Amino acid sequence: MDRRKFLRIGGTFLFVCAGAGLGPVLLKNRRVYGKSTTVMGTIAEIQVVHDDAHKAMAIIDDALEEVRRIEKIMSHFREDSEVGRINRDAFRASVVVSRETADVIRRGLHWSDVTNGAFDPGLGKIVELWDVKHRTEPPAQDTIRRLSGLAFHRHVRVTGGPGGDTVRMTSEDVRIDLGGIAKGYAADRAAEIVSGLGIDQALINLGGDLVALGGKSDGEPWNVGIRDPWDASRISEVLPLRNQAVATSGNYEQFFKYDGHLYHHIIDPKIAQPGAGGFASLSIIGNNCRDADALATGLFFLGDRETQRLLEDNTDGFSFRRLGT
Ligand code: AMP
Ligand code: MG
Repeated sequence: MDRRKFLRIGGTFLFVCAGAGLGPVLLKNRRVYGKSTTVMGTIAEIQVVHDDAHKAMAIIDDALEEVRRIEKIMSHFREDSEVGRINRDAFRASVVVSRETADVIRRGLHWSDVTNGAFDPGLGKIVELWDVKHRTEPPAQDTIRRLSGLAFHRHVRVTGGPGGDTVRMTSEDVRIDLGGIAKGYAADRAAEIVSGLGIDQALINLGGDLVALGGKSDGEPWNVGIRDPWDASRISEVLPLRNQAVATSGNYEQFFKYDGHLYHHIIDPKIAQPGAGGFASLSIIGNNCRDADALATGLFFLGDRETQRLLEDNTDGFSFRRLGT
């Protein structure tokens, strides 16, 4: 055996050992595999770092399936979802729901308390009234006035017991809408699925609600761009993320303009209409996407100092970036 051949065998031996923890050799075969699809009314994009294309795709499919499962139980657009059942029946009788739907609603109500009602998962009637995707002019003033300041979150009771978790509403005006928190929760769950299948580097992006597992490579973080609120083709800022979540709410996502005003999909429940101002976005960075999602929606209209104070008092080191006006 000449010396070169011996070295090659030596190399192969090292490669096999690498699976037991000598990372650098295996890492050379690792690549980023990704897939995107439409789910939860947005584009979901999942990337994982793996050394086997086939296995990587199967893992991504499992994660996307989890997102679809959550959409199926938490979407307010579906009458047969758990949220659909709550909205139909929970004013007349307690509705039994899964532990996880109850937990997401509970968490939403927690953020209602913290934000003094700025985040309100019971405001579905206002969202329906404004229907910014289809409207071209504001709804009637008297309807807006009637739904203003109703603090829907105070009329939602979630209880847990031996018979399961139940939801009851004490006002006929409550409609649960988890649009401001469920995508972040789904991104967390997709990340759990991916990491449970042995992946330690992945990027899960549900329409701007993102979880970064590990970094893109050992030395590099995942670089996530935040869109310029005024110019869709530009990235305003790049966030380097490693084992972090970020959720961004932008009032440029869904809106119509009428008489020089911008009417978008982020509602200020006190006035039952979209808060005033021009194009803007708020990104919340933290250790989980569910809370980041709720906070990006709920703190959208706050000033920087109040946002900072609220995050300091109520989260484990969450931070924010606000762009535009
Ligand atoms: P996001 O894109 O995460 O900011 O969520 C926006 C969606 O959350 C809207 O389309 C509504 O379904 C819902 N939403 C709007 N305003 C609020 C609010 N103040 N509190 C809770 N959910 C809201
Ligand atoms: Mg949100």
